[in-house]
Amino acid sequence: MIRVTVWNEFQHEKNDEKIRAVYPDGIHGAIAEFLGKEEDFVVRTATLDDENCGITKELLDETDVLFWWGHVAHWRVPDEVAAMVRDAVLSGMGMIFLHSAHHSKPFKLLMGTTCNLSWREDGDYERLFVIDPGHPIVQGIENGYFRLEHEETYAEPFCIPEPDKLVLIGSYEGGEVFRSGCCYRRENGKIFYFQPGHEAFPTYYDKNVQTILKNAVRWAAPEAPRKVLDCPHVGRLPY
Ligand code: ZN
Repeated sequence: MIRVTVWNEFQHEKNDEKIRAVYPDGIHGAIAEFLGKEEDFVVRTATLDDENCGITKELLDETDVLFWWGHVAHWRVPDEVAAMVRDAVLSGMGMIFLHSAHHSKPFKLLMGTTCNLSWREDGDYERLFVIDPGHPIVQGIENGYFRLEHEETYAEPFCIPEPDKLVLIGSYEGGEVFRSGCCYRRENGKIFYFQPGHEAFPTYYDKNVQTILKNAVRWAAPEAPRKVLDCPHVGRLPY
């Protein structure tokens, strides 16, 4: 079984009626709902207003793949919690950063760059093109692309390190393009950044989005027992 934790800042859905209408159980609730139907996943959720921001060492130890959605309250996640999440990834925990989590503390720690990008919220459509049809994350996406009727426009330049593997490019009604599906490896852990998921649009109910996120869980799950690599002094080899 793959143990999945869906962490959501869960602020818009509490404070804004229009967003609550789209995600009455929160974005984390919508994601946990479709992931929970997979027989090989055990899913739980955590949110910012939970004790210790919902993140403890025990939770991370018991999580194979962690989702992260945040937007207006990145600053409320203490630096120590962000460092704990980074360290869990380095030891082998898989991590999926969604949409505006590009500016979350754990993502920036793991990337080492500003992660800035350009954006525009006009409700444009987005087309997501599969770059690598053989990649496990895009299996089940027919015809090489899919379309979301409304998404927030994110545009290049996206200030991230060159992805180890770029699997999706987003293209918007206004002509902008964006690296919308990026894979990284950091020490033992795998990371997937996925651009769609603006809180005002029903993105996480889309079948193709759900397919990608389910695939991403299986791709990011640890392949070997988690382990922190250290820096031992070594003697000469005996022969
Ligand atoms: Zn957004």
